[in-house]
Amino acid sequence: MEIKDITMNEQRQSVGILGTGDFARALAKRLYFSGYDVIIGSRRPEENLLSAIDECLCNMSLVSIEECIESVSVIFLAVHAENFKDLLQEYTEHFDGKIVVDVSNRDKASDTYSNAEYLQTLIPRASVVKAFNVISAYAMENNYNTSSRQVFIAGNNDLARGAVSNIARAMNFTPVDFGSLIAARRIEKHPLLLFPGWSGPCWFTITVFIIWLLYLVFIYYIEQTVYEWEQIFVKVLNKAICMTGITVLSVTYLASSFAAIIQLYNGTKHIRFSRWLDKWLKNRKQLGLISFMLIAIHAIMSTLIMSPTYLRSWYHSTKIVIPHNMSEAYEFQNINWMTWKGEAACMTGIFSFTLLCFVCVSTLPSVTDTLNWREWRFVQSKLGHLALFLAVVHVLVMGIPGWAKTPKKVYKSITFLSSFLPWITILLKLFFSIPCVDRYITKIRKGWERKDARCKATCVRSKNHSYAIVNCSQTTGKVGDNCLCPCDVVDMTTFDKTNCVYSETKNT
Ligand code: NAP
Repeated sequence: MEIKDITMNEQRQSVGILGTGDFARALAKRLYFSGYDVIIGSRRPEENLLSAIDECLCNMSLVSIEECIESVSVIFLAVHAENFKDLLQEYTEHFDGKIVVDVSNRDKASDTYSNAEYLQTLIPRASVVKAFNVISAYAMENNYNTSSRQVFIAGNNDLARGAVSNIARAMNFTPVDFGSLIAARRIEKHPLLLFPGWSGPCWFTITVFIIWLLYLVFIYYIEQTVYEWEQIFVKVLNKAICMTGITVLSVTYLASSFAAIIQLYNGTKHIRFSRWLDKWLKNRKQLGLISFMLIAIHAIMSTLIMSPTYLRSWYHSTKIVIPHNMSEAYEFQNINWMTWKGEAACMTGIFSFTLLCFVCVSTLPSVTDTLNWREWRFVQSKLGHLALFLAVVHVLVMGIPGWAKTPKKVYKSITFLSSFLPWITILLKLFFSIPCVDRYITKIRKGWERKDARCKATCVRSKNHSYAIVNCSQTTGKVGDNCLCPCDVVDMTTFDKTNCVYSETKNT
């Protein structure tokens, strides 16, 4: 099967589109304005009057399916996958050596089969390339400034993939090569994803929020009546939002410390993290953004209720003594200066929120692109932890005066409870910043392994395999070292102490 390199042809190349639906028309216009001659193939060319639908389409030829396939070497199949067989079965012979671009999408994701692979079985002598399915007809037709829009491309023929990539580039899209046609399964899944990576962090946040809210309702309304029910919408909810925000923020930064503890324990980075930790590490961005959103809501709500009525301990009270023999109108100035507590809480809260804004802005792709690795780490790690620290100080400023008054009830106080986890996060960060600990963990992250680590790593990796050899001499550097691997899956009766090599018994 020979594929013509259409990239070498004359300037205005011809491409074909099968189908006259929404996507076909949008694609035709885009291709035409990108410098291609477009030939559209329809089952009923005589009935379709393209210029009546859109005058931009009047320069394009509308022909029969057969004629379209015959006239071009690259054909876009803008037809639903259910109709592939009906449409193509008569013409399979005509596709010899052609590049067929499958733009179709699925209703349900599948890990075992893709539309593109199915199409390839229908026209085995053509080169099927999966592409453009992630671009909607609307974006194809209306958004021309789309160089940041990616088109995922997969196909078994390199030349065909290259040709389609060139067309995508000419249309001002960015082609991303996914490799062979099997990758079409992933590409077809893409439009079906609904905010991947967000459901776990959202559910976690909702759970934390409900726990804090129930606790607040218990201590303010059930155990004793501190507030009226009318105050639940802002006064009480604001506390629950703030407590959830700081908890989620500390959880965001706790993940890396957890990973470091596990790497320290294992003495290697080559043992895979358990799935929950892996997920936790991957969801840090989402957790951070959610905590930022909650803290922003808390900042807005707090500003709205900033008054001596709502925040009594933040303001000095004004004592007014009206003389009892007053007969005329008495004027006084109601000046409510903030106490040190109010001022300090405002200051730490504002600084923490501002730093968080920096951290969040740096996650925008356009900003991330301008930062080098050191700058990115500085903003995400150093400034992020500083923001968390200031948030904890903000909470402590509000809590400590109350703790001093009733030390026996500290464990119940919301300021104590909500600052507990953040303190653990900060203390762990400080521990891992101690130079000798930092050096040790950096060494592990660069690939260094502790003496017993390799055996551990190999044993863990070999757990699911039927046969594995663990060579302990690799960890000590000397053959004959009498080392025992701390591994449960290995049958120790087969351990050869002379060569320090043992074989796991076959578990087939
Ligand atoms: P559509 O408006 O329903 O058009 C489908 C076209 O397929 C029809 O106009 C028809 O053209 C042709 N066709 C061939 N055999 C057919 C048959 N047996 N029954 C019905 N029609 C048949 O669909 P569309 O929105 O353009 O989508 C076309 C393909 O692009 C789909 O695979 C879709 O998943 C994909 N896609 C669409 C979008 C989008 O935003 N619309 C985005 C990405 C990908 P003739 O009557 O002229 O033969």
